[in-house]
Amino acid sequence: MSASSNAVRSLSVGQRYRAFTHRNLDELTARAGLSAEERLAVQAVAQVLPFRVNSYVVEELIDWSAAPDDPIYRLVFPQADMLPAEDVSRLVDLMREGTGSLELAAYVREVRARLNPHPAGQMELNVPRQANEEALPGLQHKYQETVLFFPKQGQTCHAYCTYCFRWAQFVGDADLKFASKDIAPMVDYVREHEEVTNVLFTGGDPMVMGEAVLSRYIEPLLDIEHLEAIRIGTKSLAYWPQRFVTDPDADDTLRLFEKVVASGKSLAFMAHFSHPREMEPDIVQEAVRRIRSTGAVIRTQAPLIRGINDDAATWERMWRTHLRHGLVPYYMFVERDTGPQDYFAVPLASAYDIFQQAYRRVSGLARTVRGPSMSATPGKVCVDGVMELGGEKVFMLHFIQARDAALVGKPFFARYDEHATWLHDLKPALGASRFPWEADLSLGEAANLPG
Ligand SMILES: *Cc1c(COP(=O)(O)O)cnc(C)c1O
Repeated sequence: MSASSNAVRSLSVGQRYRAFTHRNLDELTARAGLSAEERLAVQAVAQVLPFRVNSYVVEELIDWSAAPDDPIYRLVFPQADMLPAEDVSRLVDLMREGTGSLELAAYVREVRARLNPHPAGQMELNVPRQANEEALPGLQHKYQETVLFFPKQGQTCHAYCTYCFRWAQFVGDADLKFASKDIAPMVDYVREHEEVTNVLFTGGDPMVMGEAVLSRYIEPLLDIEHLEAIRIGTKSLAYWPQRFVTDPDADDTLRLFEKVVASGKSLAFMAHFSHPREMEPDIVQEAVRRIRSTGAVIRTQAPLIRGINDDAATWERMWRTHLRHGLVPYYMFVERDTGPQDYFAVPLASAYDIFQQAYRRVSGLARTVRGPSMSATPGKVCVDGVMELGGEKVFMLHFIQARDAALVGKPFFARYDEHATWLHDLKPALGASRFPWEADLSLGEAANLPG
């Protein structure tokens, strides 16, 4: 064993996963220096939005001397102004009357319902691509070559991001209809669909599952000949790298990864990294070395979030660090239209500037990254630039992914709008009356509008 991994082990031996929830919130926000009144407002927000953090994030990632402005603090802790002020003060009043009251619960539900809890038809998307097939809970097949699995046992995370677009499932709003522990039907679906070359495990975070459960999902896929890659979407490297180094089943997990690679398939570890600091601790770097030594490829992605990573230098530093450690930058996302989106949103025009300024300063090796990309109902739309055509200022965009595969890679234009933050804010440009994915109403296709 190398000296560095000895150091890592001595640093982390005996570190058991310990979660902090809303019960610990007052103590933690006091540590951030918030007044009693401010702490109460944060508690009110945490009635509505999920909160979970763990000992590693608290002790090794957050810079408490900079809290509450520290980006990692902001990544995991609710902020008083994430909800409209009148909602927060009403919640505070109801909490004063008692946190168990029916009235408080009803108001919490009302505030949640106003936050577009199921963006882009999330709940309706657990359907196959062909209308004659039955929907399978826990399986989503939106793009022809990729199927998403939502394992029942992976419906949580080692910590929650304040900006998470799946926040609704963590407050018990969405999970049951979407997740599955029936593995065989999902595997059969993939076996019967030869166009499916990728299975993407997502959640929650599939890496909250122990190796024994994870292998029950992964192993049956390994003899499906047409399957080329298994992907695991996860924030565990950032939030609990012990999962791959010192947890009791860390070694077994790595053996499972080796088995995937030995079966002749690619194992793509889709790592969610929001900020360069997440790569700093020795134990993350050790986890990266161990995962890469199995033959798995680590690709990195994150949304662009106001107040957390909304400047080019942060992304440049993050991509450079990833490259140095053998991680492959993959996507920069635009924050989705759910939850406290107004709080976190960066306008598309600024998102494009940030992307371009970071992208131009890294070598071609890091220009594997694409973005800023919006994962919307018709597909993943990338903002490619701002330009003037025939005297009109426009956004140039293209589909990275599309439900209608014919649209992939095709450019299209939208009127420039400095305030637009999402696809639904955009209007067709250059005299067009509709976007390429919209039905031509003049042909009577209104009934075929994509959902
Ligand atoms: C992003 C995404 C995928 C994977 O798309 P790639 O461009 O192949 O990474 C698959 N399904 C859904 C629903 C997605 O949002």
